[in-house]
Amino acid sequence: MELLTIGTFARASRLSPKALRLYDELGLLMPARVDPVTGYRLYDPAQLERARLVAWLRRLGMPLARIREVCELEPEAAAQRVRAFWAEVEADTASRRDLATFLIDHLSRKDTTMPSTSMTIRYAALSDTGLVRESNQDTAYAGSHLLAVADGFGSSGAPASAAAVDALKPLEIGEALPAGDLLNVLEDAIEQANRAVHAAAGSETSGTTLTAMLWTGSQLALVHIGDSRAYLLRGAEFFQITTDHTIVQSMVDQGRLTPEEATTHPQRSLLLRALSGAGQAAPDIRLHDARPGDRYLLCSDGLSAVVPPGDLRRVLAEATTPEEAVRELVALANRTGGPDNVSCIVADVSSEGRDHTGSGQ
Ligand code: MG
Repeated sequence: MELLTIGTFARASRLSPKALRLYDELGLLMPARVDPVTGYRLYDPAQLERARLVAWLRRLGMPLARIREVCELEPEAAAQRVRAFWAEVEADTASRRDLATFLIDHLSRKDTTMPSTSMTIRYAALSDTGLVRESNQDTAYAGSHLLAVADGFGSSGAPASAAAVDALKPLEIGEALPAGDLLNVLEDAIEQANRAVHAAAGSETSGTTLTAMLWTGSQLALVHIGDSRAYLLRGAEFFQITTDHTIVQSMVDQGRLTPEEATTHPQRSLLLRALSGAGQAAPDIRLHDARPGDRYLLCSDGLSAVVPPGDLRRVLAEATTPEEAVRELVALANRTGGPDNVSCIVADVSSEGRDHTGSGQ
């Protein structure tokens, strides 16, 4: 069989000779033979398939180190890796889209005078071990400026979720935050939380979700990573205002699973993003306009995985106080068998000027 020169091989594989020389040096795609006299690289036509795969993966933006791994795998495992890589790309794009939304929101507010109506929140938090788990790895905290739910995982899940929430608590201090600093304040707080989780988790496999709202007096800044959730009951409408960072959610987004299939998928709790201290945290950050009468629910998956949205909505619509709502929601989760730790925070926005006392934990 005749070996191909680098020029011919480059044309056939749509890789440049320069790229081929680099891939040789990196051990990604080595020529079948190097002429000992001229030093020319010669390629076997059978190597074209691998070369084309490399070219396609480069076009996807996959880093060379990962391409090398994919090339070593059997087709099915390789497909799995490409799927996982693409899910990461989409999650990253989604997070940058959220940042763009935040900035557009933030910049367009600069010219408008905010209404001076003062709003307050009344809130309650409840976290329960559930009926199956031996310990509670969730952390729920509600205060006059901060609402936060974190769901720890791994052997150090409990300290990890507590550390993430503790790192946000300094944001409780002081009255309204300067709006212009909000993004930086949140970003710093999340970085702080990520480092605190790393210190508390102490292992590669522990970490936590974090869904938190910072109350500025008229707006809620929402920070979210993982599969804990925030919902809003506004009048008759009930929305989930966070998107789960899970493999199954990304499959739903790609149209490869229906939302119904996702609720029973065996890998439904596999997270795409979380706070683990590994690398930079990539939370969604969003600014949300609150209105008097809004009722917010923050919860861990111990609630949302077992209680259907219709029941969440009914409890939120019927409960007269946040305290009653959180008690009823935890009871509902436990009535399904309480398979997981369950945490809920319910917060009501009201336009009354009086200070409401809430009960947090
Ligand atoms: Mg959980």
